Amino acid sequence: MSSKEIQVKEYTVRAHKRQIHTRVFNFVCKQCDQSTSRETYGPRPLYCETCRPPGTPKKSQVTAPAKKGKPRAKVYRSDVDFQKSS
Ligand SMILES: [Zn+2]
Repeated sequence: MSSKEIQVKEYTVRAHKRQIHTRVFNFVCKQCDQSTSRETYGPRPLYCETCRPPGTPKKSQVTAPAKKGKPRAKVYRSDVDFQKSS
């Protein structure tokens, strides 16, 4: 196996229309227990549009936790007894 470096040119994708395949799921919302239907192009949704309105950013609650404390230096101890096979 040989490997080599190749140069990948930067490129941008223009705004474009794309046809996606959506389907309407009829399901019961996990939050409000109402039977509802929702059009989606992904997997079956779990929540209705009232509980989870479309277009809300997913990272509303998830904030990257700041690194706490000192970064631990990882010490790989070599006293682990690997099973010697000879
Ligand atoms: Zn709901």
